[in-house]
Amino acid sequence: MAKVKETLNPFEIAREQIDRAGKKLNLDSGLLEVLKSPRRELTVHFPVKMDNGRVKVFTGFRVQYNDAIGPFKGGIRYHWNVSLDEVRALSCWMTWKCAVMGIPYGGAKGGVICNPKEMSKDELERMTRRYASEISIIIGPEKDIPAPDVYTDSQTMAWIMDTISMNKGFAQPGVVTGKPLVIGGSLGRDEATSRGMMYATREAGKKVKLTLKGASVAVQGFGNVGSHYARLMHDEQGSKIVAVSDSKGGIYSEKGFDPKEVLAFKEKTGSVVGFPGTREITNEALMELEVDIVAPCALEGILTSENAPRIKGKIVAEGANGPTTPEADDIMHKRGILVIPDILANGGGVTVSYFEWVQNLSEFFWTKKEVDDKLEGIMVSAFNRVWEMRETKKVDMRQAAYMVAIARVVEAYKWRGIFP
Ligand code: NAD
Repeated sequence: MAKVKETLNPFEIAREQIDRAGKKLNLDSGLLEVLKSPRRELTVHFPVKMDNGRVKVFTGFRVQYNDAIGPFKGGIRYHWNVSLDEVRALSCWMTWKCAVMGIPYGGAKGGVICNPKEMSKDELERMTRRYASEISIIIGPEKDIPAPDVYTDSQTMAWIMDTISMNKGFAQPGVVTGKPLVIGGSLGRDEATSRGMMYATREAGKKVKLTLKGASVAVQGFGNVGSHYARLMHDEQGSKIVAVSDSKGGIYSEKGFDPKEVLAFKEKTGSVVGFPGTREITNEALMELEVDIVAPCALEGILTSENAPRIKGKIVAEGANGPTTPEADDIMHKRGILVIPDILANGGGVTVSYFEWVQNLSEFFWTKKEVDDKLEGIMVSAFNRVWEMRETKKVDMRQAAYMVAIARVVEAYKWRGIFP
């Protein structure tokens, strides 16, 4: 890839996104500074006994960005590239995501610098339990509720729930979401982010006159979000999935394929690469394919000023958080590409996390249909709120989403005031 001109520091990008929307909303500069600053940041360095008997020190973070609207909420990421600025950015985006979806949470995020691919299950369990203990001083069902993110899953959440519960002396299902069903998880949570994305893509399709049936789709990142999105677009919308990828590379077939078969192949071989009837492509080439819908579902910093001029999709559906730089946004907006921004496109995950938490607190569980119907209602109204802002203020979708979200948080500040 040629050298990118703009910053790829996610927190600088997050702050610039706030500035852009703040300007349009004529926000007071003091309040803008509040919105651009995380409320609380915890860094922990903690020892873990590894299988070889040695002790290794890990570093983890939990950033509680803003709780003007409600308790902090946000996932936990395990990745070798985790940094404080990345966690800050992700916690900031969670704040706007909850606000744009209209659910009563603030934003937070956590992360541990580690390589989960090189750790045994026992090592991961010990690391998770110790990290959970370290951050237990600031999390809890009424304070801050973690969830899965990159390289964490329902097993990770079960260990966290158990660790917190053991220390309390009673079961605390409401302390995390994305749990296995048997300990208080919600039906539909595993696919919620992707189902929400599918609804958002369908609404966007109506606006740009793209029929999803037969529309070609390329998905970067075939993990939790990307694989469910590909399956739902294929099975429920009749779209043609022509390319998917993971950290080892991508596959392409003009004819399209069934993502369920690719998932079974990946579970057996460890990668999508080599799936019969496809040819190998790079992750970069996948983004630039001649398709109707491009869905980045892996990590940040994927769409930049360098490749934005070559993106051919009519719709970019951001499953990943922060895949696009502000410069790339400007380029794609000028080129008439409709970007469904992360805080809207992948907001279905936190929405069903909210449903899970409500079910835990009320100790009453919903059917899958109830979950899906409520999710669809929330996604469609959030999409329409953002679309209306886009039309009335003549801005791109990201700015519109930020304006809706920031206006909501600002309204909370107006009522609550600045303490003391
Ligand atoms: P995951 O760990 O299940 O999947 C990540 C996928 O990305 C894997 O297939 C991995 O192989 C692939 N990947 C990693 N590095 C890559 C690279 N350099 N190039 C291409 N692919 C690469 O994680 P996930 O939960 O699916 O999260 C993916 C994105 O979606 C993240 O940005 C996350 O913050 C965001 N997100 C997740 C949720 C959720 O509910 N899990 C909700 C909202 C947003």
